[in-house]
Amino acid sequence: MAEQNLVQIESNRSFISRSAILAFKACEYKGYLTYFYDDHGITSSQAVLDLLIGTVVHRGLQHLLEHCRIHHPDGKFDNQCIDEAVAKAKEVWTETLSNYELALHSGEFDRLDEIIPEQECLFEGLIRGFAIKKLPGILEEYEILEVEKEEVFEDFSDLVTFLAKADGLFLRKSDNKLVILSIKTASQYLDVTERDILHDMQGVSEWVCVKDRIVKNWKKYKEIKNNQTHYIELEDELPSGELELIENYHWFEKFNSCPEIYAVQYEYLIKGQRKQDPYGSGIYKQNSFLVHSYKMESLMTLSGGNFSTSSDDYKWKSKGSGRLPKGWSKIDIWNDVGIKNWIEMLATGKIQSEEGDPFEEILITPPLVLRLPEELEEWLVSTRFYAERLHRGLEWIRGLENKIKAIDNSDLSIATIDKLSDLGKFRQQLKMAIWEEFPKNTKSCHSFYGRDCQFVPHCHELLTLDESVNSSLYKTRLPHHELELNNFIEKGYLEGK
Ligand code: SF4
Repeated sequence: MAEQNLVQIESNRSFISRSAILAFKACEYKGYLTYFYDDHGITSSQAVLDLLIGTVVHRGLQHLLEHCRIHHPDGKFDNQCIDEAVAKAKEVWTETLSNYELALHSGEFDRLDEIIPEQECLFEGLIRGFAIKKLPGILEEYEILEVEKEEVFEDFSDLVTFLAKADGLFLRKSDNKLVILSIKTASQYLDVTERDILHDMQGVSEWVCVKDRIVKNWKKYKEIKNNQTHYIELEDELPSGELELIENYHWFEKFNSCPEIYAVQYEYLIKGQRKQDPYGSGIYKQNSFLVHSYKMESLMTLSGGNFSTSSDDYKWKSKGSGRLPKGWSKIDIWNDVGIKNWIEMLATGKIQSEEGDPFEEILITPPLVLRLPEELEEWLVSTRFYAERLHRGLEWIRGLENKIKAIDNSDLSIATIDKLSDLGKFRQQLKMAIWEEFPKNTKSCHSFYGRDCQFVPHCHELLTLDESVNSSLYKTRLPHHELELNNFIEKGYLEGK
């Protein structure tokens, strides 16, 4: 390790999250650029459609679950509740589109007037489909206790705080067991997906964080309760207020014990892939019956573009490998019945019922996933060790950056030869430190599915980071966790963003 001992290190805690760990594991240099570069990390100025659809669907479902937790635990939510969830998702969609350009295939920018309504139709369809087909069953089986609660796991490590946010925490009504909800949007649900779930880090990290918080609160609760036992012995009144302040107090009162986490419930929402349609045309369309279905050609000619509400005029599934049924054409749902009507037609089984329930193909609930205590402990020990290693590397780099800044900010007109030689030495050490601590993994640069790492122009096309940021290729990372976001706001990193 190059002359690390020369640098005076100022020790600060770092924040880390599951997505940061995954980025570092894919390529440590990518993790460094995304999460640590210039203290805040940088990301592409373009929004990746796939990820954006996942974000907006999550926002809509978060609103719906929270709304039902508060107002409709009996499951009696109505259409207006779903409309509001869609509106919340649209807010995020619109705001993102006003701040970021979409990352699309070359030549697609002149088709934005088709791509944007197609994608709006897709996320609205997924939210409405989930609300109608999945949510009633969830509310019957579970009580929703929490939705997207921020977890700040301080005791994860002496150096690093782990941040997490489970999509939901449920109480199973039949046996009072806690179940963590994990919502996933994916382009496909393959055999391997079910095997992957068994080892998915999200199901472990959120479990460890939620458990840590509940156990801590339970200990506080017991401590106060035990100190108050003399009131009970004297048959005197308990002093009120103190216990109620403890988070999760109502659960402890209800169960008279610390509730244990039993399993993770995954919910998959399948978007379909963006594929060239027709093949080789360079025109990419979302391969999902939520947005493109089939309609009788004779009706299209006769109605002059008007939609029909007769279920016999539509199909959601074509026979064979992608061939259209004879006499039928592929349509854009948003230009026809509209997504709200379409979901209702599908959900009531009016369309092609002989093909089964269409939602079974796109809303998938795998079996509950259980975790062994040793799995949780292994994750904690190995992730803490890894995160602390990243933290130490970062501290070293920060120390060198501060030395360089101090010389840069000093009056170089009266710079001594020593000062300039120090500057050169520290710059060289900084470069070496980054190479050593956060090496590139070039196996992660190009994906089989065609999406390159956002840092390819910098790593492999000779664009410096300063040039990339100045040319707005990259911008300051927007944190997803409240604590980190507030920290960025305090430091002024998000001003003008
Ligand atoms: S382009 Fe490749 S080497 Fe560079 S950060 Fe991305 S994955 Fe790592």
